[in-house]
Amino acid sequence: MTSYTKIGTFLFLFTVLHITALGNTPITEVKRDTAIAQVVYGSDFLFDGMDSLSTKELYQYKDSLTYLNSPPKELINQLHIYLKIRTMDFNQIYATIDSLFELNTIPYPLINELNRYIANHQETLNNFETEIIDTSQYPADHYYHSWNTITPNPYGANYLTTPDSVIELQLIGTPRSPEFVMPVVDKLTSKYGWRSGRMHKGIDIDLQVWDTVVTAFSGMVRVARNYKGYGRVVVVRHFNGLETLYAHLHRIKVQPGQMVQAGELIGLGGSSGHSTGSHLHWEIRFKGHPINPLNLVDYQNHKLTHSTLVLRKTKHGFAGYPKGSIFYVVQNGDYLYKIASDYGTTVNKLCKLNDINRNSRLSVGQKLRII
Ligand SMILES: [Zn+2]
Repeated sequence: MTSYTKIGTFLFLFTVLHITALGNTPITEVKRDTAIAQVVYGSDFLFDGMDSLSTKELYQYKDSLTYLNSPPKELINQLHIYLKIRTMDFNQIYATIDSLFELNTIPYPLINELNRYIANHQETLNNFETEIIDTSQYPADHYYHSWNTITPNPYGANYLTTPDSVIELQLIGTPRSPEFVMPVVDKLTSKYGWRSGRMHKGIDIDLQVWDTVVTAFSGMVRVARNYKGYGRVVVVRHFNGLETLYAHLHRIKVQPGQMVQAGELIGLGGSSGHSTGSHLHWEIRFKGHPINPLNLVDYQNHKLTHSTLVLRKTKHGFAGYPKGSIFYVVQNGDYLYKIASDYGTTVNKLCKLNDINRNSRLSVGQKLRII
């Protein structure tokens, strides 16, 4: 009997919520008693004035929906997400919202509801974050001040702040970061850069499924999970300040928070996620900004070209190149714009320094002065 009553109650709720979720009923007024600024997309919320429902009630409601003759899958899904964020910190909720924007049909009522949750819980969430997460124990925290185990790249576009305009990172030769090891030794199948209209933010290295993949530098595993197009992916935060990402793995052999030494096994190669054929997609990033791995790795000899990396902020992001590189030796496929953007300079400056003009032909082996 009790369960019938329950279902009855929740059927009533369901009618109200379902209509709201479908976006057919405009909501007259958003509760603004908290007076916290909140972004609202359209006027629909998942719940109309029902944010006082307890977590237990929400679970009961969700359960009751699954017993209906034709369960409203979409709504159940959204309820599931809404319930899940109650155990998350700020960064994780924002990452969830970001991922909703990538769906084919963006669930604005749910996003509004999540934003309302954040607005209503601002204080508790903040406290939660400062109480529980002490990021100072993580590698290179002075650059990041955050530790996110959910999203491979949680850093916004403005993460590289002004004081960072020129940074030198000592990549190897320190007690905590003694060496570099190539993650996989095999053929390079795709370079960094624009590829059929999309930016390829790493390089692809050929491998066979089950081949071992090792971490390039020592550090701590930040992400080890299945994530969208990356498939099974591992991200390691290194003591030298960089983060490296290993995608399309067949098996993951580490977990977040685990310390790893350069050369230590992190997973087995595969082709999970959006991948054609087994390979390793390898990225090197600093504060979320991708760096061309071939700017620091001598691919033939599986070594770093220099132990110190210079990072220079540019108009469009930043450039990473080995310390002491004043001259650049032109390679097959190079063009002025590419060299200029790799080194954070402009075609004009390159032309002036080298007494050439922008239409000059470059020949392989030619030395160009960079700075
Ligand atoms: Zn790739």
